[in-house]
Amino acid sequence: MAVPKKKVSKSRRDMRRAHHALRPIMLVECKNCGELKRPHHVCQACGHYDGREVVTPRGGA
Ligand SMILES: [Zn+2]
Repeated sequence: MAVPKKKVSKSRRDMRRAHHALRPIMLVECKNCGELKRPHHVCQACGHYDGREVVTPRGGA
């Protein structure tokens, strides 16, 4: 909802922004190669997901 800028106090504005922080990127070890990867993402190093190779890594055959 649009509210005139001067109607929102600094306190209220800052309380709203208290939830705006970005979370750090989570990393877990790949079960296949041990490389760090993001959870629920294909491993960038070996292309494995859920215990099998789903994509061929860069430069591979
Ligand atoms: Zn891997």
